[in-house]
Order: sequence, then C-alpha cells, then structure tokens
Amino acid sequence: MLAAIEAGGTKFVLAVGPAPDAITARLTIPTRDPATTLAEAAAWLASQGPIKGLGIGSFGPVELDPASPQWGFITTTPKPGWAGTDVARHLSAALGGVPVGFDTDVNAAALAEHAARGGAAGGSLAYITVGTGIGGGLVLDGRPVHGIAHPEVGHIFPRRHPEDRDFAGTCPHHGDCLEGLASGPAVMARWGASLSELGADHGAHAIVADYVAQACHVLFASVAVEEVVIGGGVAQTPGLVERIAARARELDAGYLPGGARHRIIAPRLGTDSGITGAMLLANAAAADA
Ligand code: ZN
Repeated sequence: MLAAIEAGGTKFVLAVGPAPDAITARLTIPTRDPATTLAEAAAWLASQGPIKGLGIGSFGPVELDPASPQWGFITTTPKPGWAGTDVARHLSAALGGVPVGFDTDVNAAALAEHAARGGAAGGSLAYITVGTGIGGGLVLDGRPVHGIAHPEVGHIFPRRHPEDRDFAGTCPHHGDCLEGLASGPAVMARWGASLSELGADHGAHAIVADYVAQACHVLFASVAVEEVVIGGGVAQTPGLVERIAARARELDAGYLPGGARHRIIAPRLGTDSGITGAMLLANAAAADA
C-alpha cells in the first residue's frame, strides 16, 4: 500500500491505495497543532494496512535539500506553531521507518498534472494555485524544480492594473506581490466578497485575471513551460481560467516563440492534483528504497 498526505494550512488530506492512480481510502482532518495533526495522520494511515512508501506534498516554505538536517521540515511559515516542524522524518518514524518522498504541495500537484497528460516522460508544466495564498510548482523535462529552495511564484511582482492603483496589497512581506493582489484574502479585502459572489460582470474578475495572466506570461517567457495549470479555490470561479488565458494571449501580443502552443487550463485532476502528486511521491520513494 502507498500512503499520501496533502498537508495544507487548514486541512490535511490523507489517502492510501495500491498505485498512484488508485486511491482506495481517504480522510480529511483539520490542521491543528503539529503534534496533534501529525499523530492523527499517522494513526489513520497505519490503520489502513502495511505501507511501503509515504508521499507528502506540504504547504511551506519547506526544506527540500536532502543534505540539510532540516530536510522535510516546514521552515518559516507564519502559521502559528508550525515553523520549524519536522514533518517527513517524524511521519516516517511514526510509520515504522517507511521510505518517504517530500515536496511542496504545488510541486506535487504539478507532478500529478504532468502525469495526467500521459504521453512522453519529458515535457514541462507549471501548476499555480490561487486560493487563500498563491503558490506555484514547476515540472521541467519531467522533473520537479527545486532550485535553492523551491519556486515561490506567488511572490513575484506584477504590473499594477490601471483600475487597481490604490490598494496596498495583503502580503505581510511585500504588500502588492501577486499573492497580495490576487489571492482570496486580497479579493475580500478590496471588494468585501469572493469573486464568485461578485458576479461575472464585476470589474474584479478582469483585474484578478490580469495579475494571474502576468504570472503565466512570466512562466512562459522565463522557463518556456508548455502549459500552466491553474487550481485553487479562487480559480474555481466560473470563467476565470478562460479570462486568464485570454488576457495572457493579449499580454503576449503574438511575440513568444511557441506561443501558439502555450496552454492555460484548469486541472485535469480537478481538486485531486495535490493528493495524487503525493501518491506519486510515495511510489517513487518506495521504488528508490
Ligand atoms: Zn509576497
């Protein structure tokens, strides 16, 4: 059995199954303090039968350097109680020392969306989640990108929309970075309602679409991904992904090589990208052991 955890700031999704694309049981638990939450996760997974590999896609920031003694930790998160939490090695030990694969939630989602495309093992793709926060994962030539830590697509700086000059932004670090301008809390802070509640003719849709489209353009222009998959709660607003795609084409203005092949799409796996990616991490960890 493979075991998987999508570790989020508000909930943990747990799953088990014989293969990455065959989840046979799952449970969602609220994210409380680390000791309680990790113990609850480990107890449920252990109750599902013998586990040969564990995969974790986690909220962050996280440490992904295998040479670091803090590998598998959530590092500097503002979430109370969670900074400096050993997640990967702690859960591996709690499950009898099972091999563990660990990555960001969005890199896990990117891996799963890449696998869901089928076909060649190579290829490139970015996964952006637009929800309570904004994050991004990258798969290039079939492999997740970590760099010196991991991508933080939510904290790039977009050009301000002409009808959105006065809002200071909600990011505690940067103010008007992408997350500070286009996340769910940023929408709520400006307009007092979610995009879905505002109605399709409200100007907020075009403003949010513009900012996310700029991020897609940056990904196309800097790392030349073929596809940007946009998930998360805000991205489930009807019509928003289509607006983002249309705006990105306008922004590019026909310039980028390969532009005609760029795609901006909703997740093929719906809301299951993250947990499926964690199953893939579990499978890889079991295979490497
Ligand atoms: Zn920021």
